[in-house]
Amino acid sequence: MSTRWIFGNQLCMDLPVLKEADREKDVILMVEADSRTLWQSYHKQKLVLIFSSMRHFAEELTDKGFTVDYRKAESFRDGWEAHRQAYDPTDVHITKVTDDRMRRAIAKWEKGLSDDVTVHYEDERPLFLLSAEEVKERLPGDGPWQADGFYRNLRHDLGILMDGERPIGGKWSYDQENRKPAKSGVDFPKKRTFRPDEITEEVIEEVKETYSDHPGDLDDFIWPVKREEALKALNQFISDRLPTFGTYQDAMLIGDPYMSHSLLSSAINIGLLKPMEVIEKAEAAYEKGDAPLNAVEGFIRQIVGWREYMRGIYLKKMPAYKNVNVFNHKRDLPAFFYTGETNMKCMEQSIKPVIERGYSHHIQRLMVIGNFANLFGISPQQTSDWFNEMYIDAYDWVVLPNVLGMALYADDGLLSTKPYVSSANYINKMSDYCSECPFHPKHKTEDDACPFNALYWDFLDRNEDKLTGNPRMKLIYSQWGKRDEDDKEALRNKAKSLKQQLSKGAFDTNL
Ligand SMILES: Cc1cc2nc3c(=O)[nH]c(=O)nc-3n(C[C@H](O)[C@H](O)[C@H](O)COP(=O)(O)OP(=O)(O)OC[C@H]3O[C@@H](n4cnc5c(N)ncnc54)[C@H](O)[C@@H]3O)c2cc1C
Ligand code: SF4
Repeated sequence: MSTRWIFGNQLCMDLPVLKEADREKDVILMVEADSRTLWQSYHKQKLVLIFSSMRHFAEELTDKGFTVDYRKAESFRDGWEAHRQAYDPTDVHITKVTDDRMRRAIAKWEKGLSDDVTVHYEDERPLFLLSAEEVKERLPGDGPWQADGFYRNLRHDLGILMDGERPIGGKWSYDQENRKPAKSGVDFPKKRTFRPDEITEEVIEEVKETYSDHPGDLDDFIWPVKREEALKALNQFISDRLPTFGTYQDAMLIGDPYMSHSLLSSAINIGLLKPMEVIEKAEAAYEKGDAPLNAVEGFIRQIVGWREYMRGIYLKKMPAYKNVNVFNHKRDLPAFFYTGETNMKCMEQSIKPVIERGYSHHIQRLMVIGNFANLFGISPQQTSDWFNEMYIDAYDWVVLPNVLGMALYADDGLLSTKPYVSSANYINKMSDYCSECPFHPKHKTEDDACPFNALYWDFLDRNEDKLTGNPRMKLIYSQWGKRDEDDKEALRNKAKSLKQQLSKGAFDTNL
C-alpha cells in the first residue's frame, strides 16, 4: 500500500498527493510532532491554528472516505515508525515542501529508510502559483532582482487583469493611489471572525497546558481553521472590505490593526485557501463593478507579485540567506517586543496585536517594527526569529525575505531597490499614532524628540559607504551633505544616547 503524508501547512484537497490517492487502498498519514513545535518558541495561537486545522482536515478526509492515520508523536520520525509498523507501506507520497529546515529533515529521514520503501515527491501547486523550478527560472542568475518586472511578467503569463497584451486600465500598478492616510474618524467594515468549536477548544486547553511558556495570549482566537470558514472569510473580504483595501493599504490607525487588510494569509499559507482562487474572486469583483481597479490590482499584486517573488528569493538563496547582515547590526531585541509595553505609541500599537492575535498588518511590520529594528541596529537574525515565532502566518520561506530583505535590507538590496527606513515623518503622515505619543514627531535632538528622527540620520551617516552609490538614495544624501557639522554632530550624539538608553530598557518605561 501507499502512504500519503500530509504536513500541517499542506491542508488542501486539491493537491496532487490527495487527488491521485486511491481511497480504497492508500492511507493518509498526519503527525502532530512535539519536537517540531519546539524548533522555535511559537506563539500559542499559531500552535492552536496548526493543530486545530490539522484535526479538522483529518476529519474532512475521513468524511470523504479516506483512511487517515492521525498520530501524536514525540517526533516525525517516531510518528512514521509507528505508522510503518501498523501499515507497512511500500511507497510514500509527499508534497514538496519549501522551508529549508523541513526539506533537510525529510531528506535525512529518507536516507535512513530501508530499500523496500520508495518516496515520491509530488507537485506543491496549488499551494503556490508556480512550482519551485518555475519560480527559480523566473529569477535568473544570482540577483539582485526586481519585484516589479517579476510581477508584470507573471501577471501577463497567467492572464490576470489583462486586456489582451495590455494590463486592464493601461497601468500595471495603481500603487500611487494606494497611499492615503486614514485619520481618526474613518471607519472600516468589521472583519469576519470565527468562534472556536469543540475541536479548537480542546486544542486551546492542550496548548495552554503544554506550551504555557510560549509567547502570546490565547484569550481571543479568531482564525479560520477549516476550509469552510476560510471561504467565508474570503467572501466577506471580497464583498465588504476589498473596495477600501487599495486606498488605505498603507495607513495605520490607533486601535485598528486590521483596517481593510484581508487577514487571509494564515489560511493561504496552510492550504485552506488557494492563492489562485483568491485572485480570481478579486478579479471577478472588479469585473462585476463591485470593487475599484486600484483596490483589486493592489490586492492581486500582493499575491501574484510579492508572495511568489519572496518564495523564489528564498528558494534561490537559502541556506546562506538566513545569515545576511550587510550593516553588521548586533544589538539585542528589546524586552518589550514580547510585552508591547513601550512608551513609543507606534511600537505599542504594532506589537500589542501580535501578542494578542499573532497579527499586525504589512505597514506596521515594515515601516514601524522593521524600521525600528534597522534604525536601532538590532541583529537581523534576532529580528527574523521574532517574526518567525510571533506571527500567525509565519513560515521560514516568507519570513526571511520579508524581514531580512524587504524590511531590513540586510541582504544588500537583493530584492528591493532601497532600504525602507524613515524618520517620524512617514509614521506621522500615515497614522494617528504620534498624536497620542509622549515623543514629538518633529523634534530631533530635544529630550522628547521622537527616537526615529536622530536614528534615521545616524543610519544614513554610518552606512554612507554602502548606500551612497544607490541612485534612489541620492537626494537624501545630498540633504545630509548640506547640514552643517554641528547639526550632524548633535544628531549623532542623540542617536548614541538613544541606543544606550535602549540597552538599559529606557523605552519600556515612561519618559
Ligand atoms: C517584516 C515583515 C514580515 C512579514 N512576515 C510575513 C509572514 O510571516 N507571513 C506572511 O504570509 N507574510 C508576511 N509578510 C508579508 C505581509 O505583511 C503579510 O502577508 C500580510 O500582512 C498578511 O496579512 P493579510 O492577509 O491581511 O494581507 P493583505 O494585506 O490583505 O494582503 C493580501 C495577501 O497578499 C499576500 N502578501 C502580501 N504582502 C506579501 C509579502 N510581502 N510577502 C508575501 N505575501 C504577501 C498574503 O498572502 C496576504 O494574505 C511580512 C512582511 C514584512 C514587511
Ligand atoms: S512620535 Fe515617534 S515614537 Fe511616537 S508614535 Fe510618532 S513615530 Fe512613533
